[in-house]
Amino acid sequence: MRLAWHSGFASRARARLGGLGSIIMLHRVRPDCTSPLGVNRALSISPAFLDQILVSLKSEDIELVSMDEAVARIASGAQSPRRFAAVTLDDGYNDNLHHAYPVFQKHRVPFTIYTAPGLVEGAVVLWWEILELLVAKANFIIAPNGQEWRCTTMFEKRTAFYALMRYFTETLTELQQIPVLRDMCEAQNMICAVAADRDILNWKELRQIASDPLCTIGAHTVHHYNLKRLTSEMVSFEMRQSADMLEEKLGKRPQHFAYPYGSARAVGEREAALAAKEGFVSAVTTRHGTIQAEHRAHMHILPRISINGRFQKLVYAKTMMSGATTPIANAGRRVVQG
Ligand SMILES: [Zn+2]
Repeated sequence: MRLAWHSGFASRARARLGGLGSIIMLHRVRPDCTSPLGVNRALSISPAFLDQILVSLKSEDIELVSMDEAVARIASGAQSPRRFAAVTLDDGYNDNLHHAYPVFQKHRVPFTIYTAPGLVEGAVVLWWEILELLVAKANFIIAPNGQEWRCTTMFEKRTAFYALMRYFTETLTELQQIPVLRDMCEAQNMICAVAADRDILNWKELRQIASDPLCTIGAHTVHHYNLKRLTSEMVSFEMRQSADMLEEKLGKRPQHFAYPYGSARAVGEREAALAAKEGFVSAVTTRHGTIQAEHRAHMHILPRISINGRFQKLVYAKTMMSGATTPIANAGRRVVQG
């Protein structure tokens, strides 16, 4: 990717593939990343790096816009001389308030936080993070299906973590994940929760940040389930109920939606049609890509550019937003649907 930028490929690609702009995807923003096995490191960037990205985008004359404005631009189909970038953050980590918000305020940059009320209220937990803590702590793990993992060395722990991730996302149903995790934590004398300082924004904090016109709150389902693994009725319920709860608690119905996990394994045409039916004006995936004029007809399956915390280098972010990496990620296609 570094080569793509320095060879000038990215700047040539920008005119052709950069399209109308990008929707940037972030999760956590905090000075220190505590991922004991390093497996969730990609989800975390530092406030300093966020600052660098925003400065760089402004210096390139990219307009930093809200999701409302991004949608308006995509829908109008009019070619604006300036490309846009809309910044989005998934899951509503409370570091968004403490560490990202001051950076957005400093630069007067709009942002959208996609929130799942089930996470806010503790009905579900950030299970992939707790699984990491569990494997980091344990020397031996037995899953309810009888599978066993010795995890004394870092290598064994990482192997166990990825095997357990597969077990949780492929063998267990979405509704089984949290009860099974609670049992496994109990067996290790561990509380099934992440520490308060790396946890999720509560309603009071959400109201506080949502009161700033820079902030848009989007819906992210209630229980953060992989929607492709649910019935259509459950998908509609998850979408509608999350919007109802956010409207009730924050006084404003969310217009924008983000699919949990967001990959091709978690969202397809059925989910996009249901998001449209439930009245969201846009829905974003985690699939890689810049926004093209053609996305006007695919407003409920928009791609994003993920800023990976593992590689906090401006050159990578710039290359991705140029669109140079979009055809690579999508096997040559500029617009991916379904
Ligand atoms: Zn999420």
